[in-house]
Amino acid sequence: MSVMAAPEETPVWVNTTRCKACDVCVSLCPAGVLAMVPAPGSTLGSMIEVVEPTSCIGCRDCELHCPDFAIYVAERGEFKFAKLTDEAKARAEAVKLNAYRKLSA
Ligand code: SF4
Ligand code: SF4
Repeated sequence: MSVMAAPEETPVWVNTTRCKACDVCVSLCPAGVLAMVPAPGSTLGSMIEVVEPTSCIGCRDCELHCPDFAIYVAERGEFKFAKLTDEAKARAEAVKLNAYRKLSA
């Protein structure tokens, strides 16, 4: 398994060539950090996006459950993660109710 190098000052990042758009990470993220966006060129027509990186709490649920090893989370010593807020929890719920798709602005 090749793991992408950690970009600086980034809590969570994706290797889009591995992502199969299964929604698992979006369904598990407690902070509404992740969502699916349209990607007409991809096999499933959508792709994962880190939509709210500043809300990431570093729980690693996305990384630990991704079946394709496509999403990575920074080490705790390398990034100061956010605390889980009511706003982030509400956004996570709204994304789930939106079929895991990115909420319109
Ligand atoms: S769990 Fe992995 S493969 Fe599935 S949408 Fe997230 S990054 Fe992509
Ligand atoms: S580490 Fe946790 S909070 Fe951050 S994107 Fe992954 S599941 Fe969401």
